[in-house]
Amino acid sequence: MAELKYKRILLKVSGEALAGDAHRGLDFSVINSVCESIRQCRDMGVQVGLVIGGGNFWRGVKDGADKMQRSHGDAMGMLATVMNCIYVSEIFRYVGMKTQILTPFECGTMTKLFSKDRVMKYFEKGIVTFFAGGTGHPYFSTDTGVVLR
Ligand code: UDP
Repeated sequence: MAELKYKRILLKVSGEALAGDAHRGLDFSVINSVCESIRQCRDMGVQVGLVIGGGNFWRGVKDGADKMQRSHGDAMGMLATVMNCIYVSEIFRYVGMKTQILTPFECGTMTKLFSKDRVMKYFEKGIVTFFAGGTGHPYFSTDTGVVLR
């Protein structure tokens, strides 16, 4: 087999991209094509990480403006990214991929707390790894989360 150009990739999918033409919520047909591309990468032995936004459900500044504390609005946005990761992860699992979701804060049994050691263990096992919850801090976006991860 030809040598891989990239042995490890980190893909950012914005929440709005998951919503398709509706611009809100989730559209199954959108993620289906992403899923197929990721599966091909994984089958070639590429280690795959994903950061997913939450803008299809909630954006702290826009949706919470003047109605709540900024930090609480942003907390809702971070939880929206967790919901999106659960959704995409389930679709990936349905087609036979192994997945795990990591968060920078404790978030119940659907996710595990982020640590670099954990990520490396997952990557070595060929597990597609989701980085949910952004940075874990208000006043940031998932794009900052991408840079950190
Ligand atoms: N968010 C945050 N801290 C982070 C990442 C996200 O507070 O580290 C909140 C913020 O309110 C943001 C929302 O989560 O508007 C959704 O994230 P983002 O806007 O990055 O989603 P995308 O535009 O990629 O769908």
